[in-house]
Amino acid sequence: MSGSGLAGMSLLMRMMEEPFFDDKQILVVDKAPKQQNDRTWCFWEREQGLFEPIVHHQWQLLDFFSKDFCTTLQIDPYCYKMIRGIDFYQTVQRKAITKSNVHFHYEEVKSIGNENGKAVLTLPSGKISADYIFNSILFHEPKIAAHEYMLLQHFKGWVIETSTPVFDSGKATFMDFRVSQEEGTTFMYVLPVAANKALVEYTLFTEKLLPQEKYEEALVQYLSQYLGIDSFTIEHEEFGIIPMTNHTFPSVDGRVIYIGIAGGQAKGSSGYAFQFIQKRTEAIVNSLKNNHSLHTDRSFGVKKFRLYDSVLLHVLHYKKLNGDKIFADIFRKNPPQRVLRFLDNETSLWDDLHIMNSVPTSIFLKAAIQEIFR
Ligand SMILES: Cc1cc2nc3c(=O)[nH]c(=O)nc-3n(C[C@H](O)[C@H](O)[C@H](O)COP(=O)(O)OP(=O)(O)OC[C@H]3O[C@@H](n4cnc5c(N)ncnc54)[C@H](O)[C@@H]3O)c2cc1C
Repeated sequence: MSGSGLAGMSLLMRMMEEPFFDDKQILVVDKAPKQQNDRTWCFWEREQGLFEPIVHHQWQLLDFFSKDFCTTLQIDPYCYKMIRGIDFYQTVQRKAITKSNVHFHYEEVKSIGNENGKAVLTLPSGKISADYIFNSILFHEPKIAAHEYMLLQHFKGWVIETSTPVFDSGKATFMDFRVSQEEGTTFMYVLPVAANKALVEYTLFTEKLLPQEKYEEALVQYLSQYLGIDSFTIEHEEFGIIPMTNHTFPSVDGRVIYIGIAGGQAKGSSGYAFQFIQKRTEAIVNSLKNNHSLHTDRSFGVKKFRLYDSVLLHVLHYKKLNGDKIFADIFRKNPPQRVLRFLDNETSLWDDLHIMNSVPTSIFLKAAIQEIFR
């Protein structure tokens, strides 16, 4: 396993759950052990997933705000779930201690490749070969071709604590677009875990990052203007960048299998990756057990959703419509369950038609035709 972040550790956890892998030697390589709470994952789910025991908080009511449309989404049977990075890493590490066939090694990976029918990982201290390498390291930024788009989803979040109870921990703010849209598609989200504690995050879909102080100014202003919070302590802070792109990432190269962001598992039009990584790692485990191909699904369904992602990225890239208007239209005209299914790449063509009918046809149809004939 090359990389022990979300994808590497999810795959490891799934392998450790299966007796099939008990007699296989598994080496996990990362530049450093995971000891920090470096990120918080949110995702929606209908059933209980593999990581249910470490779900930190969950909500079935989600507020959506934009300048001209606001609503509370009741997402039942879905739950919007939060997992803290540190809980995730520690859970997988604790399980790994009980497995004599799982080993960790901490060193910077220089490169990976194939030699004489084996996968080979190159470290400063030497080379390691294996039957397979599952790689989640993005060695360099993807080279974006002329027909591809690349936006950055960048965000800064604070877990804040207030001295008085101000939050309703039964309801989260999924997206609040009432903030300035001057930089491009920009929203806040608020995830209360107690009456006096919440993760508040400022998120943008744009081409360039902002100076750090701009994220902080926006957070302070939002807390004051929309939540009436002028006094708080910051318990934790996180900053992240997720590529939003229709670039084709590698899937399998000989005995090297790409997973996670490096394998293109962040959805191009939303940046959500947690559930896509779970689906991919589950599929890999099943393929290994049943001796099936490790390639990613290339069915019509997958191509269909790639096209939708490209169309949305096209519209955002050429600034034909801002994201606040698009999401407002979609949430105004569809039940939230359909929107969540759509964002999960799980809708039928009938559902898709409803979503397409919600947004301005003149803009989206033109963009779709251009993307199809590229
Ligand atoms: C702050 C943050 C919050 C996010 N929140 C959400 C969310 O709420 N919902 C959601 O769906 N997605 C979210 N994402 C997107 C996505 O789920 C995460 O980026 C996720 O961690 C991706 O998993 P990964 O395994 O591909 O990469 P990572 O988790 O980043 O793992 C890559 C690993 O490779 C290691 N590594 C890198 N280079 C080397 C090297 N040369 N040698 C050795 N090791 C190396 C790193 O140390 C790291 O451990 C978030 C991303 C960030 C950054």
